[in-house]
Amino acid sequence: MWLGLKDQPSIANIFNPSLLKALIFNFVSNLGNIDYPSPVLGNETCGRLFCYQRNSNKMSNRFLHFLFFVLISLTLFSCKTGSVNLFKAATPHEQYQRKLINAGLDQTAMGSAWIKSASLSLEKALNITLPYQETGYFASDKAPAAAYQFTATKGQKINISITKKPANAAMLYLDVWHFPVGGSSKLVASADTLNNPIQYEIDVTGNYLIRLQPELLQSVQYTLEITTGPSLSFPTSTNSSKSIGSYWGDGRDNNARKHEGVDIFGKFRSPVLAIAEGTVTRVNENNLGGKVVWLRPKGKDYTLYYAHLDEQIASEGQEVKVGDTIGLMGNTGNAKNTATHLHFGIYAPDGAMNPLPFIDPVTKTPQKITASVNNLNKTLRTSKAVNFLNAPLPDAAVVERLSIASIVNIQSATGTFYKAELPDGKIGFVQSTALSEITRPLKKIKINMLQKMVYDQPERTAAIKKTLTNGQLVNVLGSFGDYQFISDEGALTGWIVK
Ligand SMILES: [Zn+2]
Repeated sequence: MWLGLKDQPSIANIFNPSLLKALIFNFVSNLGNIDYPSPVLGNETCGRLFCYQRNSNKMSNRFLHFLFFVLISLTLFSCKTGSVNLFKAATPHEQYQRKLINAGLDQTAMGSAWIKSASLSLEKALNITLPYQETGYFASDKAPAAAYQFTATKGQKINISITKKPANAAMLYLDVWHFPVGGSSKLVASADTLNNPIQYEIDVTGNYLIRLQPELLQSVQYTLEITTGPSLSFPTSTNSSKSIGSYWGDGRDNNARKHEGVDIFGKFRSPVLAIAEGTVTRVNENNLGGKVVWLRPKGKDYTLYYAHLDEQIASEGQEVKVGDTIGLMGNTGNAKNTATHLHFGIYAPDGAMNPLPFIDPVTKTPQKITASVNNLNKTLRTSKAVNFLNAPLPDAAVVERLSIASIVNIQSATGTFYKAELPDGKIGFVQSTALSEITRPLKKIKINMLQKMVYDQPERTAAIKKTLTNGQLVNVLGSFGDYQFISDEGALTGWIVK
C-alpha cells in the first residue's frame, strides 16, 4: 500500500483521554516541585501562572495546580474546533504539530521542546545502511525524536514499518525526505503508526532521511524496520536472481563496450513477462538484440527493453498488465551462439541504467538484534575504552573515543550495537558488549571542598541538584570529561567535579 501525502485519514487527537491524563499528571507533578523565581506580594507567592499562599501545604498547592490545569484543559477542549480544521496539513506529523500550536501547547516547556526536537533530530541524523532494524524507547519526559540517513538506489522499493509496545501506546510519526546533491530537501513520504507501513519507490538514487517522533508526553517502545526490495516484478517465470548469468557493466566484445543490462537464462520459448503496467512502445528487430520489445511503465520516465526473443507476442501500442506474456525467450541477434537467455535493460532519458535494483527479487532482511532490549532508556557505563561511532558498523567514523567508565544513556538496540546519548547530548553507536550496568559503584570517595555541588549535567552551568557536605562519602558510578557521576546515601544521582 502506498501511503503518500494525498490522504492521511488517521491522525492522533491530542485531546485523547490518555494524553489529557498524562498532561495533567505531568503538569501537576512538575508544578508541585518547581519553585518559580517570583515576586513576593504580601504573604502570597506569585508564579508565572498563579498565586498561592506561601504557607499552605504542598498537597493543597498540588490540588490548586490540578484544578488550574483541568481548567486549562477544558478550555482547550472547547477550542478544539475552529482554526484546527480549517487547514488541511500535508502530513500526520504536521497536523499533530498544528494541533499543539492551536491549543497553545507550543508555549509550554514540553510542547516547545517537542517542536524543537523535531528539527534538531534532523541535524543530528545518524548514518545507517539498509536493511536496518532497531528497537528503541521514547521516554515521555524527554520530548524525543530520532532521525537516520541512508542511501537508496533508483528502482528499489523501500518498506518502512513500525511496531510498538504496547500496541495501543503513543502514536508515532514517520517522515521521509530526499536530499538531492546541491538541491533542497523534499518530503517524499509520511505516515503514522495507524497507517504504516510506508512503501516507497526510489525514483532518484541518493541520500534519504527518515525521522521518527512520538506524540507528546507518551512513553513507547518501538521497533523500526527498513527493508529494500525491487519496485518491479521479475521478467521471467523463474523469478530468481540465480537465473541471472551476466550483470550490468560486464565487458563485451573484448571489453570494447560494457554490458548495458542483465542476462536472464531460461528455457527456449519460455514466457517473457511484462513487469509493470504500461504501454508497448516498440516491437522491432536490431543487430545486437534481434527481436525486441520496448515497454513504457505507466507514470515512469524509463523504458524496459526485452531482447533476443524467439517470438514477439505483444504488439506496438498494446496496453499490458503485470504478468502478461509479451514474448518468448530465444537466441536472436548476437545471442545466436549462446545459451538461450533474455537480455533485459532499462533506459532512462539520460541513458541505460542498471536494471538489477528494479528486479532483484531478494528482499534482504536486517541483522538480528542481539543487544539486550532490557537496557533501553537505562544509564550504563563503558567497561573498557571504546569508540563512539556515527553508524552501527565496526569501521564507521569515530564521533568520540570513550574512556573506561564513561556514562551513556541507551536509546535503541540495533544488531550488536546500542544507539546512545552522551551526557553532552552527542548521539552515536557503541558496541553493546562494551557496556555494563552502573548499579555496582566503581569506588567510594570522600567529598572535598570543591566537589560539594551535585549538578544535573556534567557542566558548571547545569542546575544544582543538591549540595553535599565536606567529607561525605559518595559512590562513584562513572565519569564523563572532568566530571564523575555519583550517588549519595539517599540514592540521588548527579555529577560532581573530579
Ligand atoms: Zn545481455
